[in-house]
Amino acid sequence: MVSRKHDRIHVDDTILCKLCLSELGEIYSDLGLTSDELDLLDMPRRSFTVHFPVRMDSGKIKMFVGHRVQYNDARGPSKGGLRFHPELTIDHVKDLAFLMVLKCAVVNIPFGGSKGGVVVNPKELSRNELEQVTRGYIRAIADYIGPFKDIPAPDVYTDEKIMVWILDEYERIKGMHVPAVVTGKPLELQGSRARSYSTSLGGIYVLEEALKKVDLDKKDASVAVQGFGNVGENAARILFENGYRVIAVSDSRGAILSESGLDISEVIRHKERNGTVGGFGGAENITNEELLVSNCDILIPAALSDQLNANNARDVKAKIVLELANAPTTTEADEIFSEKGIMLVPDVVANAGGVVVSYFEWSQNLNSEYWEEEKVIRRLKNVMITAFNDVYTLCIEGKCRMRRAAYQLAVKRILRAERLRGNL
Ligand code: GLU
Repeated sequence: MVSRKHDRIHVDDTILCKLCLSELGEIYSDLGLTSDELDLLDMPRRSFTVHFPVRMDSGKIKMFVGHRVQYNDARGPSKGGLRFHPELTIDHVKDLAFLMVLKCAVVNIPFGGSKGGVVVNPKELSRNELEQVTRGYIRAIADYIGPFKDIPAPDVYTDEKIMVWILDEYERIKGMHVPAVVTGKPLELQGSRARSYSTSLGGIYVLEEALKKVDLDKKDASVAVQGFGNVGENAARILFENGYRVIAVSDSRGAILSESGLDISEVIRHKERNGTVGGFGGAENITNEELLVSNCDILIPAALSDQLNANNARDVKAKIVLELANAPTTTEADEIFSEKGIMLVPDVVANAGGVVVSYFEWSQNLNSEYWEEEKVIRRLKNVMITAFNDVYTLCIEGKCRMRRAAYQLAVKRILRAERLRGNL
């Protein structure tokens, strides 16, 4: 793990360290942080790796590696997703956990931040093996999570059914019902209405605020969405349903473009039948790379990290980049966008809708309540618009990029909580 006080270029972690968190050092110096404050932010409060056995379908036992990092809990219990990924490293999890601390602070919900995961390619497991891996991981970390300690949620390659196994395993261990131990559950098991599409919807509320600032009318705006997983698909669908012209979408196997706009409900049906958006009738097949530099007004990276970088940022034509993925833009690309006058709405604001509705789910569980969809959506909208405007105001006042403004706001809020607790 490279210290956050310095410029952080990681050699063996190509995924995140050199990306969006690399400018924290400069942000800390802009804020004039003391060495005590730097020390406090530099290290996660708890970071651990577990090894656990799983009986595979073949009858053989295989050992798996899992990580969990609870980076900071000054503002509330740690909160963050669980990802299953074959290249997951503890350093990557630490960075993602720190990103969650910042995200929860920017949108001002009473959580700290965490992240976890298992080093595994879920596509290589049977459903039974996936369940056993999930349950094995939860048995290994059960003492360290809980509604007032650390609350997992879905992330890359984890979904509702995995959240159910987490819930069930935890409740078996504790011998009682504890629905608030995990969020992103199905409605039948005390999930929240709107959670499944909350990241996308929250992003669209933010986008609508951003459109006002760049004086662009949604009727005239064309959109390209990279990624057709839960977040990308829901974003494309909601945009389409709300009258936006979605001209391009993609998944890991293909990308399509139609200048006159795609019928996203048809694209969804096509993907269900064919396993990819590629080959959709009436649209041109393009590459993911071509999608990113396509002639759109709004570009929504909703897939992986590091997609917008020094190699392609100059060719991006969009007026707004809305980061629905975590860390899709490198710092170099962020700077290039700023030079070109492209508004980049950073992930910690743009994709925070997921964790915001997770907060609502947790809160409903603790109070044994079920909120109507309308209430969840109204409150989500309110939180997202407030966060965007808080960050935008700072960005104008400080003449800085939105990511910087967002990080500054978050760091100040975290340190204020630490100070109030007497930790500083
Ligand atoms: N994994 C999502 C994120 O990165 C949601 C986390 C949560 O709901 O706790 O924001």
